[in-house]
Amino acid sequence: MKVATSIDFASFMRRLEQKNPGQPEYIQAVYEVLTDVIPWIQEHPAYARDSLLERICEPDRIIIFKVTWDDDHGNVHVNRGFRVQGNNAIGPYKGGLRFHPSVNESILKFLAFEQTFKNSLTGMPLGSGKGGSDFDPKGKSESEIKRFCQAFITALLPFIGKDKDVPAGDIGVGSREISYMFGQMKRIATIAPGTLTGKGISFGGSNVRLEATGYGAVYFLKHILKHQRDTVEGKQVLISGSGNVALYAAEKLLTLGAKIISLSDSKGFLHIPSGLTQSLLSDIMTLRFNKHQPLAHILQQYPDLSFHPGKTPWHMPADIALPCATENEIDVEDANALHSGGVKVVVEGANMPVTPGAINVFRKHGVIYAPGKAANAGGVAVSGLEMSQNAMGYFWSHVEVDEKLQSIMKNIHDQCLRYSGHSAGEVVNYARGANIVGFKKIADVMLAFGV
Ligand code: NDP
Repeated sequence: MKVATSIDFASFMRRLEQKNPGQPEYIQAVYEVLTDVIPWIQEHPAYARDSLLERICEPDRIIIFKVTWDDDHGNVHVNRGFRVQGNNAIGPYKGGLRFHPSVNESILKFLAFEQTFKNSLTGMPLGSGKGGSDFDPKGKSESEIKRFCQAFITALLPFIGKDKDVPAGDIGVGSREISYMFGQMKRIATIAPGTLTGKGISFGGSNVRLEATGYGAVYFLKHILKHQRDTVEGKQVLISGSGNVALYAAEKLLTLGAKIISLSDSKGFLHIPSGLTQSLLSDIMTLRFNKHQPLAHILQQYPDLSFHPGKTPWHMPADIALPCATENEIDVEDANALHSGGVKVVVEGANMPVTPGAINVFRKHGVIYAPGKAANAGGVAVSGLEMSQNAMGYFWSHVEVDEKLQSIMKNIHDQCLRYSGHSAGEVVNYARGANIVGFKKIADVMLAFGV
């Protein structure tokens, strides 16, 4: 019998594209990982065997279900719900739920695939998954959101469990939606608190989970800069998004003395020339998290600021960029603008916000690029801590969880650095480090398990 000792990148991708037509986001995510992993496998042929790559790329299963709910006027609506269970080699499937009209199989497969490497990087026993629905929460009343959440989780409940698959939030799914879903689960079944993460503190949630993704991305940034013998203090930062990740990243950056000059939403971006202040941030949090209103409405309280409809902030001069909204929000043109504007470091708070062409622009110009699977892993890491606390029936303080988060982010940074293969004076290729570390751990476990 002949055991494979090498993998041909081009034919692997061709087969993948043929098998997954019309799934560009999923193909993009796999391509980005394999760009680093296949050359590494050529140097470590033990990992070319047993179709390891095919098995990691192909999700374990995809559950597609109907979600039926009625609006405030008695009209019945049908949405599509999904759960992609990616890989459970190192632990139960784990990953968020996204409610957004763009949700489809390709987007959730890309997110679950990224989650495989991200969760592996945290060093915690967490497999990978992602789910959601094409439901659009915008313009829906509070009771419509509640009924949708209840219908969605009722349909998903048979497929999840604390040792099986543990969902959390993502775009369009925040504390409010998690509370509705957890309440419904408790109403209709006996469930362990660790079946869902991102819960409220008073019913089994963890301190710092709300803030973890944004804070974690900033901790990762701190370590990048420390490696450059630099700090965040005084740096001008562009942030996109004004949701969970963006606003908690902004909060942490403020405490570290950075000057944040933009935030955004799907309608455009807010320019804050003199820098975000604590009181402006609090008002934006109230607007976005409590009132669920568009970012531009902040001009009613702060008429001196400017909102630029249909525009992104990437053409403004700055030192650092933190894309925290959604996938593919920085293209080649934006990357060139960021470089021309003086940006030296780009840290992904969102998942895959930088296109492959834009990553190449950053590489060409020596801009440090940190991929989301490493930089935004703080959210899932604290979800892992929430599961541990639920299992122990114990509750760590804010300080304890924050210290654990900081040490996890340092560890992720250091592993990425070690496996990036960089030599002194070279720009660190954090993506290569993240892809190789993430792959190696899963691959070792799968090899140990056998087929
Ligand atoms: P939220 O729903 O809280 O916020 C999303 C933000 O992005 C909003 O400002 C939204 O604007 C904007 N946005 C969404 N879609 C688009 C779009 N197509 N174009 C422009 N702006 C858009 O989500 P999160 O902050 O939780 O998630 C943001 C990113 O971070 C996602 O990529 C997510 O996968 C990733 N992530 C989140 C984690 C978490 O713990 N929440 C963990 C790890 C990664 P608007 O309100 O106008 O739609």
